[in-house]
Amino acid sequence: MTQFDYDLFVIGAGSGGVRASRMAAKHGAGKIAIAEEHRYGGTCVIRGCVPKKLFVYASEFEKTFKLAESFGWSVGESEFSWEKLIAAKDAEIDRLEGIYQRLLKNSGVEMISDRAVIEGPNTIRLVNEDRTVTAKKILIATGGTPFAHEGMVGHRLGITSNEAFYLPELPKRVVVAGGGYIACEFAQIFKGMGSDVVQVYRGDKVLRGFDEDVRDHVHNEIEASGVRIITNTIFTKIEDIGDGVKRVHLKNGEVLEAECVMYAIGRNPHTVGLGLETAGVEVDEKGAIKVDAYSKTTADHIYAVGDVTNRVNLTPVAIREGAAFAQTVYNDNPTAFDHSDIASAVFTQPPVGSVGMTEAEARESFKEVDIYKTSFRPMKYSLSDFGSRMLMKLVVDGETQRVLGVHIVGPDAPEMIQLAGIAVKAGLTKDQYDAACAVHPTSAEELVTMADKWVPSE
Ligand code: NDP
Repeated sequence: MTQFDYDLFVIGAGSGGVRASRMAAKHGAGKIAIAEEHRYGGTCVIRGCVPKKLFVYASEFEKTFKLAESFGWSVGESEFSWEKLIAAKDAEIDRLEGIYQRLLKNSGVEMISDRAVIEGPNTIRLVNEDRTVTAKKILIATGGTPFAHEGMVGHRLGITSNEAFYLPELPKRVVVAGGGYIACEFAQIFKGMGSDVVQVYRGDKVLRGFDEDVRDHVHNEIEASGVRIITNTIFTKIEDIGDGVKRVHLKNGEVLEAECVMYAIGRNPHTVGLGLETAGVEVDEKGAIKVDAYSKTTADHIYAVGDVTNRVNLTPVAIREGAAFAQTVYNDNPTAFDHSDIASAVFTQPPVGSVGMTEAEARESFKEVDIYKTSFRPMKYSLSDFGSRMLMKLVVDGETQRVLGVHIVGPDAPEMIQLAGIAVKAGLTKDQYDAACAVHPTSAEELVTMADKWVPSE
């Protein structure tokens, strides 16, 4: 019988890889190792969701101080220190990384801090240690990397979200490219902290893929927060004009100057140089690993979970795919994670919470679609001159009355959508929403009190 060094070798200690290895250990998978070339916790913990949300909190305070005045508070001189924020954020990320390492250690998973590449069907090379190991099964959970506009003249002068978390100082002026999650979130993070921000998007309205009402609302709110959005154009080149200033040329002929230029124009699956071809693991045209419903690749004993498979690129999805892999392979319980109706949030200001179908998607699939929507000023702003509004929208199948989608923009939308996500996943109907008694006074109560169907104006 062939002997392997490990029963399971996991490449990548991000959300998916860590959950999969811990669950595999729990199900008695045998000897498990996990290799990580950067830091334990992966993109989400080290340079993604977690530090991003800390930055969002930090960037909201100026507005909060102004709001406080509407409630009678006098707020004195305030000052923001980028250095203090970075130091506090770094300490928190160190703490979280330590937790991830402890969880792995306590599960009996061997941690190998090295770059691992596949060298044959069951062979893995540890690049820095310069040695090979063998494994009966391999799980690839290497995530994604930001697209850094390679190929454009002067692309090296820009940064991605990876570097945004480690800038030595807060830039005076920032130009952000993109109109997706990361671009919108960072445009307002920098704005809130005090930078002048221009966002450049190739489309006509940010957040493509979201419900049109959400897109309109968020686009307007970003502009109202003081970010200038330039639409329907892209970067053509960047020059260094000295004194730390970069000059960005746009296709529409406009020229912008800034101390920081950030690309948030998508992320690519992290598969380059991984040696997948040596093990018969196929990738698609975007470089994402092809997997079946059970996260099995085109090689029988190799699996892949998370962003590297480019299914739904969200942390909780990678975690669920990792857990489903462990159930399937080590607990004799074939489990395919259901990728439908996944709730998600965009931490713009105000934030977005969204689950299920957009109105446009519903109209493509259902004969009759009922829309319920409302827009109002959140109570918290009622004593101030803040113009920011809340949007709530239900997309309902006109025949069965099943609620197909819930879309919210406004304070606490990410918290609300987690619960709305349960109702959408459960397939509840509009009547069942309405049967729930409201919680008053809240914004969320609108979700169970929208009585009238929305009728488009002529
Ligand atoms: P997105 O895919 O969300 O957005 C990419 C943006 O860049 C789009 O606006 C796209 O335009 C634009 N774009 C793509 N290519 C080019 C190009 N060559 N030139 C100019 N513009 C371009 O990617 P992000 O980088 O914002 O985020 C990556 C993923 O990370 C997301 O899909 C999301 O799953 C995840 N994420 C989730 C977060 C959350 O849950 N809150 C937060 C941050 C990230 P177009 O719309 O026309 O395609």
